[in-house]
Amino acid sequence: MHQLVQRQREYFNTGASVPKQFRIQQLKKLRSALKENEAALFEAIYSDFKKSQFDTYVTELALVYQDIDEAIRKMDNWTRKQRVRTNLVNFPARSYILPEPLGVSLIIGAWNYPIQLSLAPAVAAMAAGCTVVMKPSEMPAHTSTVLAKIIGETFPAEYFTVVEGGVPETTELLNQRFDKIFFTGSTHVGKIVYKAAAKHLTPVTLELGGKSPVFVTENCSSLKLAVQRIIWGAFLNAGQTCNSPDYILVHRSKEVKFLELCKKEIAKRQIAVEHGNYSQIIDERNFDRLAALIDPDKVYCGGGTDREQRIIEPTILQQVSFDDEVMQDEIFGPILPVIVYDDLDDAINSVRKLPKPLSCYIFSNNSNEKKKVLERISFGGGGANDVVSYIANPHLPFGGVGNSGIGKYHGEAGFQAFSNYKGILEKGNWLELPLKYYPYSKTKLWWIKQFFKF
Ligand code: NAD
Repeated sequence: MHQLVQRQREYFNTGASVPKQFRIQQLKKLRSALKENEAALFEAIYSDFKKSQFDTYVTELALVYQDIDEAIRKMDNWTRKQRVRTNLVNFPARSYILPEPLGVSLIIGAWNYPIQLSLAPAVAAMAAGCTVVMKPSEMPAHTSTVLAKIIGETFPAEYFTVVEGGVPETTELLNQRFDKIFFTGSTHVGKIVYKAAAKHLTPVTLELGGKSPVFVTENCSSLKLAVQRIIWGAFLNAGQTCNSPDYILVHRSKEVKFLELCKKEIAKRQIAVEHGNYSQIIDERNFDRLAALIDPDKVYCGGGTDREQRIIEPTILQQVSFDDEVMQDEIFGPILPVIVYDDLDDAINSVRKLPKPLSCYIFSNNSNEKKKVLERISFGGGGANDVVSYIANPHLPFGGVGNSGIGKYHGEAGFQAFSNYKGILEKGNWLELPLKYYPYSKTKLWWIKQFFKF
């Protein structure tokens, strides 16, 4: 690992990864390599999750292609030096902000979207002019192997390489000095990564999880459409999505109708692996963890499990309270608890007492309610009258806050995550004001105070 990082550092120090043309060429190379290997990627994801090509394209590849295209299109804009005003104290001078790549980066991916969660940060790193050591999650083993093969065949290891493995390999990587660490995964491991980064004062982006609430208020007049959108987001990839609805807060007046519509919607969409719109649970450990969260007394619909196939039916739990087991941690599976509330302010306060979530959503036709929820709760990103899909807008920064993460990415936010912005002042030589030089006087002090005002 040490040699690997050393080779990348030497390569980075040659400046080869920095020119704009180089960055664009590499991004195009990555796009072509992925296109050529799409069949292998579809097959790998199917082996790991039993997921359809449609789902894999929409939730994995499309987002990476979009980030690549956006980075190529915006390269001139993002890399330009940005002129800013100079204040009077510094007169005469011109000032600007100059982005530079941070250097050798380490990207650690999570298992739930193993292509996108490793490659989208890599795209941001390449766009910023960094070199990349990428460690995809070991759990979807087929996908990890295919990614390593594609990257190995496309790029020299001193520029972009994949290290496969689990905890021992990641620990060894974290002992090295990187210039940037970008981690996606659990809050627990995020803290381990943050500690390791602190040893070298390495800047981090931590993309973590959390319990993302969905409010369905008494003023949600398009309840059928709300349910359609919620059910899609909640059971996409069998709920193994970081920003999917973790639980519902529904106003008492809408509870019965909401539950009925959820049941109908699940039946109508025929959510099942064999229909290409569902996934297996990633492994037996997670299957057992999830199965234990299903309280039979609270099952409104679903609840069926098949351990051999690692399938859990889309499950809605009713009459749930914040004290229930299912509300103690991020669920990360196809179980959707429904909590009833009477007063929106109380419901907001309950959410505010919990760790800050990655996402928060509200379904309402009332702008005051939307404003209240979106402004008073601290969360990474989210929105009104939709779930999950904000991640697909490259113009929005994506990432958590507090327990759900540090830093943002996608689009320009990704470029910024792998860049250092130098503040530069270029002084003119044709005038030198004597005010800052010794000997000081009351008059000079009066003048300097005036100068600082502008
Ligand atoms: P995880 O934290 O178990 O693993 C993530 C990565 O860390 C893997 O590559 C793994 O090999 C490595 N790792 C695991 N244990 C380690 C250790 N002790 N030391 C060093 N490295 C270690 O997370 P996961 O199970 O892969 O993913 C699920 C979590 O990720 C959920 O909490 C989910 O919300 C979160 N997530 C967040 C986002 C986001 O963008 N914010 C996206 C996807 C998943």
